[in-house]
Amino acid sequence: MQAAEPVVLSLTAGAMPLAERLAEALGAQHHPRLGPDGFGDVAAHVQGLFQAGTPIIGICASGILIRTLAPVLGDKWAEPPVLAVAEDGSAVVPLLGGHRGANALARQVAEVLDSAAAITTAGDLRLGVALDEPPQGWTLDNPEDAKAAMAALLSGAAARISGTADWLAPLDAERVAGDGPVVLSVEGAAPLIYRQRRFALGVGCARGTAPEAMISHVGAVLADNGIAGGELAEVVSIDVKADEAAVHALAAHYGVPARFFPADVLEAETPRLSAPSDIVFAEVGCHGVAEGAALAAAGPDGALVVEKVKSPMATCALARIGTAPRKGMPRGHLAVVGIGPGAAEWRTPEATRLIREADELVGYGLYLDLLGPLAKGKPRREFALGEEELRCRYALESAGEGRRVALISSGDAGIFAMGALVAELLDRDEDTGGVSAAARRVAVQNAPGISALQAASARAGALLGHDFCAISLSDLLTPRETIIQRLHAAAAGDFVIAFYNPVSRRRRTLLAEARDILLEQRPADTPVLLASNLGRPEEQLRRRTLATLEVDEVDMLTVVLIGASQTRAFQTGDIAAAAEGWQIYTPRGYAKKLADVE
Ligand code: SAH
Repeated sequence: MQAAEPVVLSLTAGAMPLAERLAEALGAQHHPRLGPDGFGDVAAHVQGLFQAGTPIIGICASGILIRTLAPVLGDKWAEPPVLAVAEDGSAVVPLLGGHRGANALARQVAEVLDSAAAITTAGDLRLGVALDEPPQGWTLDNPEDAKAAMAALLSGAAARISGTADWLAPLDAERVAGDGPVVLSVEGAAPLIYRQRRFALGVGCARGTAPEAMISHVGAVLADNGIAGGELAEVVSIDVKADEAAVHALAAHYGVPARFFPADVLEAETPRLSAPSDIVFAEVGCHGVAEGAALAAAGPDGALVVEKVKSPMATCALARIGTAPRKGMPRGHLAVVGIGPGAAEWRTPEATRLIREADELVGYGLYLDLLGPLAKGKPRREFALGEEELRCRYALESAGEGRRVALISSGDAGIFAMGALVAELLDRDEDTGGVSAAARRVAVQNAPGISALQAASARAGALLGHDFCAISLSDLLTPRETIIQRLHAAAAGDFVIAFYNPVSRRRRTLLAEARDILLEQRPADTPVLLASNLGRPEEQLRRRTLATLEVDEVDMLTVVLIGASQTRAFQTGDIAAAAEGWQIYTPRGYAKKLADVE
């Protein structure tokens, strides 16, 4: 799991200067509540960040964070650090996320502010080291034994450290030299075994190799050579394997990243290979994949420690990482994200997380603006309306260069939006208008969102309470005759209908035609809802009937919902909550049941 960068929150004007200063010193983002880019709704924003796993530093009273997060607290092992910092910078209080580095972050913040971290976890406080949280580059074989060792140390038991680990310096223990892992032995507790992640594991395999075959092959090679999984820093291979499931399964198995090198980088390692292969060269353009990748990652003063070992499907080799390691490219990731109609509350935590994790945002400018502080500080590539294909190609190619890209659509990204076009481009090869081979290897993740029709239905009451369909009235991509044919079918089927793209500046006739077709089958007083700018400050809900539906009242930011024969409207008097004081719903057929009860 990648550690997200923290967000500093300021809730008042008075807190903003400190928040700015802290954000800059930590390389974090500052999200102010106030101002044009402000997040406004504290609960929605803070809960959203928390659920997306983002470390939170609030310049506010601890009580505000406690009350806001109480309803969403869950798994203490998974929650991100949450810190409260006094507005005058005099106190830093880690509140949550002790298992995910909250104390370390609090110490870091306190250092920036020249104040004190109010650490309350006993072990950390008194030992000065978190035994279950070794620093980056180290792993603990047996985290389940850390608590007992810490308790024993705290009660004054004798301890001994074999091997060298500077970060264990604060402990009061006897030191002895030792090869291999660093072992902390505390009287009365199981010894803790720490290892340095010092080997790059190079792998190659046939296309479609079963993950289990790869994992068991590597496991056997490590065992034969007395190397522990915790000593692996990364799994590396050639770039054409970036989408090979077995390679990623292997990396996940050891909890390390998978990275990839192009053939020419691997080819440069030929002089250091144990047995350069012309057959491999003919196939992929370098004389050895597993050894070449391990050596490339290890850098010029790294060294091969286990020469390639072959199984029927896979090959692996290990190199000790030197002082100048080379970073391969991660597999690119394209998140196709629906952000809902507009309001931050209508965005899923998954969408928020994917946007936060993205290196680059791609989309129509209006939608990126709707993200407010979430998009702040991220490189963004905007495309105009009408440039959908260009936008999807760009997003795929950019991800193909190893980035995490989020392609942003309003509503649901798979409903009259980018999702299908991304799939369509991936379904072609380069000669038939598809994207490059590198772009086709990216991991694509589609994140659903609330579509305009759901938001409109909910705002009005329950307009989609029974069978419904959605029809786009844009004839840019769909032949007009097809749209007309579907209108007739929907009318005959007595569906509630949601019209997307009801009009544009140039296309204005289809909506009137649709109304007339429907009037042939449905009463003139059939309820109609015009829902515009849902979830945005300009939101407007208007109740009409089929007979009073005027094309000029509708624009491209409106979704039009037409009732079915059973759809009803009733007055509630609650003007704020409904469409001009009306609720509109389509019954599911309970009327008969209710009558039977009477
Ligand atoms: N993917 C989007 C639809 C994009 S098509 C979704 O799932 O909602 C564009 C059309 O969607 C617009 O012409 C309008 O009909 C509708 N739409 C999108 N966002 C809207 C909003 N916030 N309020 C009202 N209609 C909206």
